[in-house]
Amino acid sequence: MSQWFIDVAVPVPLRQTFTYLAEHKVEKGCRVTVPFGKRTLVGVVTAASAEFNGTTDKLKPLQEVLDSSPILPPVMISLCEWLTHYYHHPVGEVFHTALPVLLRKGDPLPTDSQSYVEVAGEIDSVAAEKLSRAPKQLACLQAIKQQPVPLTILNKQFSAAVVTALHEKKFVHTVERPVINKPWQSSISIEAKPAANREQAAAIAAINQITGFSTLLIEGVTGSGKTEVYLQALEQVLLAGKQVLILVPEIGLTPQTVNRFAHRFGIDVAVLHSQVTNSERLLIWHRAKANNVGIVIGTRSAIFTPFADLGMIILDEEHDDSFKQNDGLRYHARDLAVVRAKKQDIPLVLGSGSPSLESLNNALSKRYQHVQLTARAGGAAAPAHHLLDARDQTLQFGLAAGTIAIIKSHLEAANQVLVFINRKGYAPALLCHHCGHSVECKRCEQPFTVYQKPPRLQCHRCEKTKPIPPSCTVCGSHELIPSGTGTEQIETGLAQLFPQYSQVRIDSDSIRGKDKLAGMLKKIDRQEYQLLIGTQILAKGHHFPHVTLVVVLGCDGALYSADFRAPEKLAQLVTQLAGRAGRASKPGEMWLQTHSPDHPLLQDLICNGYQAFSRYLIQERRQSGLPPFQVQCALRAESVNPELAYEFLMQARQQLNQATSMQFVGPIPAMVEKKQGRYRFILIVSTNKRSVLHNALRASIPNITQLPLSSKVRWSVDIDPMDF
Ligand code: ADP
Ligand code: ZN
Ligand code: ZN
Repeated sequence: MSQWFIDVAVPVPLRQTFTYLAEHKVEKGCRVTVPFGKRTLVGVVTAASAEFNGTTDKLKPLQEVLDSSPILPPVMISLCEWLTHYYHHPVGEVFHTALPVLLRKGDPLPTDSQSYVEVAGEIDSVAAEKLSRAPKQLACLQAIKQQPVPLTILNKQFSAAVVTALHEKKFVHTVERPVINKPWQSSISIEAKPAANREQAAAIAAINQITGFSTLLIEGVTGSGKTEVYLQALEQVLLAGKQVLILVPEIGLTPQTVNRFAHRFGIDVAVLHSQVTNSERLLIWHRAKANNVGIVIGTRSAIFTPFADLGMIILDEEHDDSFKQNDGLRYHARDLAVVRAKKQDIPLVLGSGSPSLESLNNALSKRYQHVQLTARAGGAAAPAHHLLDARDQTLQFGLAAGTIAIIKSHLEAANQVLVFINRKGYAPALLCHHCGHSVECKRCEQPFTVYQKPPRLQCHRCEKTKPIPPSCTVCGSHELIPSGTGTEQIETGLAQLFPQYSQVRIDSDSIRGKDKLAGMLKKIDRQEYQLLIGTQILAKGHHFPHVTLVVVLGCDGALYSADFRAPEKLAQLVTQLAGRAGRASKPGEMWLQTHSPDHPLLQDLICNGYQAFSRYLIQERRQSGLPPFQVQCALRAESVNPELAYEFLMQARQQLNQATSMQFVGPIPAMVEKKQGRYRFILIVSTNKRSVLHNALRASIPNITQLPLSSKVRWSVDIDPMDF
């Protein structure tokens, strides 16, 4: 009998694979169950060998081989290997992240056919009569009469006896139907499309000329017809029988977006986002892998979908932060898309109205192809940008008198007005008017946000809520006042100022619930609301053709932020917000209310626009030696005991310090210093050569792992960190 040594990536936070014994070879990419300590875990095979150097007496046998052939195609395995190396992340967790939840748990792939129960022939009134004394059977029959029902679902709603009785009476029968239906390629029918304008035509041609791998950035102002470019560029790919992956930010994934793709090509579009159930997710995974679906649209993690024959990847709103995962395996879907497109030798199209400085720099330095769409499709004028000087003005609910006047004039012209503020709730803090004490969440050491609907205090870090206290815990004064402005307060204020106009508030509190946001957007489109109040959610993906005024509030903080990305993020936000407004017949305007109207960054952005502003920021990053001209890594540590987290990072720094060409900042408290009772510190490492950083990490992580404090704090490695 032969003996095989099987290396398995096991989902544990250790940066190594584990070897198990098997009597047969198990292919790389198959799932197996293995004993691990006292547990049984599902892992993925990364190597199999008939030889082993080392002592074999401690090795344990595999328990079960779950897949007869690799569940992950070679390119996905190779992508997982890349992720493991690049992000210095535990390999078992990488494979775990790459698999749908049900496969992580050891479930089999969905079968290719499913049993359906359908009615046998005509069901007439006689049948109903015959079942008059069997109401359950009648109910079951009624359900099946509507449409054939999968046996698995029927078995959940009715007892087996009911279903069997209906079979015996020959009212119903069971048929096997394929889950995998006919090839999508034969169903493509292309709907009428607008003729591309000159810039669009150039972009489409540039994409279609690509053979093999290349990354192309479309820098196109909002409404310039980027989506139309994607649609027309995809045509060739789909007609050649190849599949397409489209990645979008979480909140930008609306039914409208999906419908545009589905309608244009007349084929089924598979959709992946956070609300898709695990079994649907697995089915889409399986269908994409079996070449049973032509288009998959999804958010960040859809980059892990395996395809039988992928022809192109499109990543829309590429500047969006939601493409970076900020826990566990901290990958960036955009960077992963580049690696994947290269491995698969296919084009990658990135698009944005306000590209990230990283992508823009790659485009300007010719690592990416670069096309620009400068005009709005359909001839709408770009909205005018203005600053509103709020200094010395009377403020009502955070709104300056001048702002209120502008809002009034647009409402009176029967147009819609969008008011943006980056905070939800009524006010970001509750202050004692007598002693200045602010009511804080103890576990997070952060002021509670004040809510009025219903009245409460809520911590935005840990979600803890508590009643609004009647008096100050420090001095006993009863005068507690909300400080600052949030969406709820603007909503209340505008309702008082403009009672005759209907309004809607859109923030993560108000859109909770399935399809709630979609419903609100539909009503906005039908002009059932005239005032739109909301957070970032309003800046993403949706067009509001009836909005002629965008008001931006509460941005001054970003001008003085310690985060070097703050100006970039602010500029992207403002640009995206402004882009929501106006169309050909109704030109729009944007007013940014500020107490720093002379700030050079604001002046530059408002006067020259994102295009010029972003080039200026790139120069500034170059001069200050910041990303993308430096590579960065953040080592993060957290603990209930701040000293342990700090000391751990100090020791880690000593380990890393061997490489002379690296700079360190820290350990310093993270921007979110404390969360849920744990103190958080970071150590920022930067250098101008990627290989220097990776070599240093590779050499020192084993030693860092061996530090006694390593098991006492929670720590992680964040490559190309986006938040600090
Ligand atoms: P973006 O994705 O850049 O925001 P869209 O592709 O959504 O832009 O286009 C904005 C609007 O202009 C849409 O209503 C779209 O149907 C329309 N549009 C795009 N391209 C054209 C074109 N070539 N001719 C006419 N209308 C167009
Ligand atoms: Zn007080
Ligand atoms: Zn808290």
